[in-house]
Amino acid sequence: MKCLICKHGETQLGDTTVTLEKNGSIIVIKHVPAHVCDNCGEKYVDSEISAELLKKGQEIINNGVEVDIREFQSVA
Ligand SMILES: [Zn+2]
Repeated sequence: MKCLICKHGETQLGDTTVTLEKNGSIIVIKHVPAHVCDNCGEKYVDSEISAELLKKGQEIINNGVEVDIREFQSVA
């Protein structure tokens, strides 16, 4: 798709790191599938993936974790 930010680039499949922060807890999820702009580098994560990450992140935080770094494969 065309990049919404720079309006010139085309997005390519790649991955990104998503950080969730809530109530002082920080969850970092690496290698999340994303569409990456080949011009400006803006990253787009599909809405169902980000919804899933929010849900998983909330579960992790509910377990009392303050800082956690996960691979996307291990949470999805
Ligand atoms: Zn762009």
